[in-house]
Amino acid sequence: MGEVGTIIKVSGPLIVADGMADVQMYDVVRVSQKRLIGEVIELRGDRASIQVYEETGGIGPGEPVETTGAPLSVELAPGLIESIYDGIQRPLNIIRDQTGDRITRGIVVDALDHEKLWEFKPVCAVGELVKAGDILGTVQETEAVEHRVMVPPGVEGTLSWIFEGSCNIISPIAKIKTEKEEQEVNMLQRWPVRKGRPYGKKLPPNEPMLTGQRVIDTLFPIAKGGVAAVPGPFGSGKTVVQHQLAKWADADIIVYVGCGERGNEMTDVLMEFPELKDPRTGLSLMKRTVLIANTSDMPVAAREASIYTGITIAEYFRDMGYKVAVMADSTSRWAEALREMSGRLEEMPGEEGYPAYLSSRLAEFYERAGIVETLGSNPRLGAVTAIGAVSPPGGDISEPVSQATLRIVKVYWGLSSRLAYARHFPAIDWLQSYSLYIDRLSAWYKKEITEEWPDMVQRLMDLLQSESELDEIVRLVGIDALSFNDRLILEATRSIREDFLHQNAFHEVDTYASLKKQLMMLSVILAYYEQGMDALNADASFAKLTALPVREAIARFKYTPEEECEERFKQIMEQLCNEMNGLSEGGEEDA
Ligand code: ADP
Repeated sequence: MGEVGTIIKVSGPLIVADGMADVQMYDVVRVSQKRLIGEVIELRGDRASIQVYEETGGIGPGEPVETTGAPLSVELAPGLIESIYDGIQRPLNIIRDQTGDRITRGIVVDALDHEKLWEFKPVCAVGELVKAGDILGTVQETEAVEHRVMVPPGVEGTLSWIFEGSCNIISPIAKIKTEKEEQEVNMLQRWPVRKGRPYGKKLPPNEPMLTGQRVIDTLFPIAKGGVAAVPGPFGSGKTVVQHQLAKWADADIIVYVGCGERGNEMTDVLMEFPELKDPRTGLSLMKRTVLIANTSDMPVAAREASIYTGITIAEYFRDMGYKVAVMADSTSRWAEALREMSGRLEEMPGEEGYPAYLSSRLAEFYERAGIVETLGSNPRLGAVTAIGAVSPPGGDISEPVSQATLRIVKVYWGLSSRLAYARHFPAIDWLQSYSLYIDRLSAWYKKEITEEWPDMVQRLMDLLQSESELDEIVRLVGIDALSFNDRLILEATRSIREDFLHQNAFHEVDTYASLKKQLMMLSVILAYYEQGMDALNADASFAKLTALPVREAIARFKYTPEEECEERFKQIMEQLCNEMNGLSEGGEEDA
């Protein structure tokens, strides 16, 4: 600690102090005798504007401000998983245990337990050359996560000693002889939240992060290391979508950042997350989750920091070689915090009062997603995939936060109240949503699933597009105006919607569909449509075509367990073939 300045003004979470000449931008400071935590966000001469992460009531001019000389940082070591933090990584459970529901101001609690013992297993031997990113050893952090303890950034040399056994995170576990000295290394790393952690190189995202959710994996896939946004009109199923992603997405670690949603909504997430069961392990999903929670009753400034805290923790697990999914909910509340701070700084307001740097700040968050080759002598592949929820007021996405987000993200899952109202879940609107990864990922889908994949998906989208046009005609002049061919399109799209896109998150089988199963489901639906079209063109009866028993089999296919799918698929295709042949033999006309 050092360098004492003096408060000259307090405006809610913003205070201004002078006598701060030697302070750096983004340094953490302690404000007043109460030692509230703050961060320097503007410097003019020796005058600093400081956003304070705690209630500033009762603080006034003349009180001291001390700098810590360090930027806002997070602690990284075993113990992160299963933690619930606020926006500046204060462990909420522990604070609550110590001080009760209202957090005492100025309280200092380590983000991680510095005393707890972990079983450290070395994977390096004395005499080896090691450098930043190399794994020194492992700790089984939870049943679901092996924590890989890495050589911290900037350290390189010969391993001269390594520990084995029980150890806390601040005791030495290795000694590395660098060019200058012998350096002790422990398990704890600190990293400033506003700075991305280093990696070897970024790779183009070309593999999907599968989610088991059909509308996502088939129509609007997200790449591993990709960025997506999901808007959440109230009641549109946003929470369920996020839970489904957390449970089923092909990610090893989940970092969930809850930003200033109404207090009770956040409480839902906090209560529900630990109850979610991890399908991989059968244990609580928390065994591979870190939660960051800022309810709107907590000071606004901590909300601003929370998304950076979240993504820094995500990067740390990425560096171990894990696939991490970060979910931020909602970035709109985060942007409101930014707007409030900007207003207090008396900056020139942009659209709707948001600061002009709204887009660049949002980008700073999303840009830290990606798939990378890590540092180290044997680089691993690690990925951070970022999914941000936006909650535009009134569901109108022409507002600045939605627009800024859409310019950055490559996937948009547009949840629609209309679909939710019709109980079509997940309510991701296929006509509004998009994924800009489709072309990039098509090589993967062709190789891993089938050459025809892109073509099948295109046929599906074309049908859905036609449906919306035909619906318009039906609304105007009635269904009878349509040809049987067009009516068959509507039959097919109903099947696409009800039998494929609709997916019940609460059904034990339907909740997840492998890509193989998605392909089979798609194949039977398209086969019915295409063979049906041939039959119609050969004068088959439309009424009979739509009444074929195979349609019920197609509708129920989603409830077939994964291991029985292949067998069932063959049966359905055979049944379809037989029933179609039966049609042309009958040869009756429609009335
Ligand atoms: P939001 O968070 O947008 O307010 P929720 O995610 O809580 O909405 O969803 C509201 C309700 O919609 C849920 O309680 C559930 O009954 C239903 N629902 C949402 N998604 C699904 C789904 N995939 N499958 C079945 N029901 C769903």
